[in-house]
Amino acid sequence: MFGATGSVGQSALDLVARDADAYDVVALTGGRNVVQLAKDARALNADLAVTCHPECYHELKSLLAGTNVEVAAGPAAIADAAAHQVDWALSAIVGAAGLVPGLTALSHGTTLALANKESLVTAGRLLLGKAKAYGATVLPVDSEHSAIFQALVGEDMAAVERVIITASGGAFRDWPVEKLATATPAEASSHPNWNMGQRITIDSASMFNKAMEVIETKEFFDVSSDMIEVLVHRESLIHAMVGFNDGALMAHVGPPDMRHAIGYALHWPERKALPVERLDLANIGSLTFQAPDAARYPALAIATRVMEQGGLAGAVFNAAKERALDGFIAGDIGFLDMSQVVDATLDKMSSQTGMQNADITLDSVLETDRLARVYAGEAFSNLG
Ligand code: NAD
Ligand code: MG
Repeated sequence: MFGATGSVGQSALDLVARDADAYDVVALTGGRNVVQLAKDARALNADLAVTCHPECYHELKSLLAGTNVEVAAGPAAIADAAAHQVDWALSAIVGAAGLVPGLTALSHGTTLALANKESLVTAGRLLLGKAKAYGATVLPVDSEHSAIFQALVGEDMAAVERVIITASGGAFRDWPVEKLATATPAEASSHPNWNMGQRITIDSASMFNKAMEVIETKEFFDVSSDMIEVLVHRESLIHAMVGFNDGALMAHVGPPDMRHAIGYALHWPERKALPVERLDLANIGSLTFQAPDAARYPALAIATRVMEQGGLAGAVFNAAKERALDGFIAGDIGFLDMSQVVDATLDKMSSQTGMQNADITLDSVLETDRLARVYAGEAFSNLG
């Protein structure tokens, strides 16, 4: 499990721990939270625990002293962990750092449960192409994509007319647009419905998360960009809908609990009982829907631009977004500056690098990612 100490990772471990005898846990990876990592590795008797930070090695090693858990540290050790032959792997690292472990895990024809949307946005064709070449299965763990996947079971893609993914609207959905420029990282870090890691929560407030998910939908389900719609749905109970050519909409309805999407991918192709809340719809009473406001959420237009450009535009977009988010969290740029930085980086790289037509290889993706972060950082000083 990659990113085992994060929000998705912990939800996955909750499911595994409830039926621990059924699983043989090979590797757990995490970051600075080595106390949690050691605790879980001990409890589940994992073969290997890896932190991505070399400086955390000794602490992790001493926390696991007296156990049989092997300990390693650093990005290369995370990729090595992915080289272990396993039946099922969870990619739940946040950011582009999830790409290499995910790609590596596919070499064994494993089933990869993919929460790390950044790897699809950055290098969807590379990842899915590798899965195909090695007979591996990639299952979506993002709730919207799990919902689409489930709505498509037994259906013919040729009958699909549109795919609708819902968005809560995030932390600032009721703020006056004029106030958004002053929003702080603390204010952006609380989600009305979901309990998630800080980065994806801020991306929900800006709708960069939804922009990523639109691109993720295009990459994963191979539908054209004009078939994908975003709908603001404040209750976060319908996660996605698929519209068919007879006018039918198949909606996936469930509580905002990631253990549903994770559990579906864990047990697929079976459905097994999951410890999630059962919705009482009579009590909920009504569900609401609204078109997203383009002025409030400029990230959505950027997603359209990225899909039209294609090629390495997704890698530029993701890296620029990650760099802009770092800048916002550090207090270097404002909330609305993030979309300006991403736009400016796409402008600069599309004019300079032949971004649209380049071959998508791991090297070209990593180099594009590196360069986009540099350009995005430079864009901080040119904000208007
Ligand atoms: P999180 O911040 O809670 O956890 C991230 C995990 O990745 C941690 O284990 C951390 O140690 C590890 N990590 C961070 N940087 C790393 C690096 N450079 N190398 C290796 N490991 C690193 O994040 P999260 O909210 O659990 O999200 C994880 C992924 O799942 C993201 O791609 C996110 O977009 C996606 N996702 C999350 C949710 C959710 O409910 N949290 C829902 C849908 C999709
Ligand atoms: Mg999602």
